[in-house]
Amino acid sequence: MDWRLFGTSGVELPRIGQGTWEFPEAGVRLREAKATIRRGIDLGMNHIDTAEMYGAGRVEEIVGDAIGDLKRPSVFLTTKVLPSNASFKKTIAACDRSLHRLRTDYIDLYLLHWPSSVPIAETMSALEHLVEQGKVRFVGVSNFDVEELDEARSSLRRIPLVCNQVLYHLRERNIESRLLPFCKAHDIAIVAYTPFGRGRFPAGRSGAVLQQIAAEKRKTVRQVILNFLTRDPGVFSIPKAAQIAHVEENAGAAGWELSSDDVRRIDEAFPVVRRRELATL
Ligand code: NAP
Repeated sequence: MDWRLFGTSGVELPRIGQGTWEFPEAGVRLREAKATIRRGIDLGMNHIDTAEMYGAGRVEEIVGDAIGDLKRPSVFLTTKVLPSNASFKKTIAACDRSLHRLRTDYIDLYLLHWPSSVPIAETMSALEHLVEQGKVRFVGVSNFDVEELDEARSSLRRIPLVCNQVLYHLRERNIESRLLPFCKAHDIAIVAYTPFGRGRFPAGRSGAVLQQIAAEKRKTVRQVILNFLTRDPGVFSIPKAAQIAHVEENAGAAGWELSSDDVRRIDEAFPVVRRRELATL
């Protein structure tokens, strides 16, 4: 696994982590999903992303179970507060509920899931309070465009904003035009979600380019995709896998690099479409 500094946190995180949205919640598939998290951690994918929204809290419990007796800081836990809980008081209460479900004393990274109608300064002040209480180590946001991100970071008084988690896959490269340069200028890590595009998995002639590169590199198409999306050291990705074979494949996206010619071919097949700054949920 490749390790990189995560924004201004001073912590190194793996280039490829693990998402948990729509994780199986019962039965044999749940057992495999928990084993998958552990296998991923063994392979160095110790950045686990979840949210109070996933399974209405159930997925945080599953993550807590899967991690079990693993010592921190060998696992880096990210979870998110819903915008409907973004007032000062509700953020503190939501964090306490997440800590309880995750069965832990602290959350490594706590994010506002997407922009809320609550003034951002109020939410950021709650996040600062949680850091001062030792319940959270680092704070960030998700699905914020440049202007929203600038407002969020400026309203933090004592701590930096370390990351923005955003949609980023081969057919949704909008972040490359403004958001990524802004984040790099301010040392804010980008965590790229939905790397495989949810129903927009590359196929046809463009997909054939990936197959060709994968064959040349002796990698799989998904490994090529994940490697491409994280070619900038400020970008991390969190594919979700609930099957051991999948997490093992995803781990193989690290430890090597695409050549500049490979990147050019992918750029040509999947051009950046400058439609909007950031596609949200
Ligand atoms: P994704 O990671 O792009 O795709 C997940 C799907 O790909 C699952 O069906 C999974 O199957 C499959 N998969 C994974 N690895 C595979 C492999 N090697 N071979 C074949 N199939 C594979 O989509 P996502 O879950 O939307 O995004 C990833 C994570 O980002 C989420 O889980 C969540 O943690 C986060 N996220 C955040 C936001 C936000 O608003 N902040 C929004 C969306 C997602 P199996 O599960 O069967 O293994």
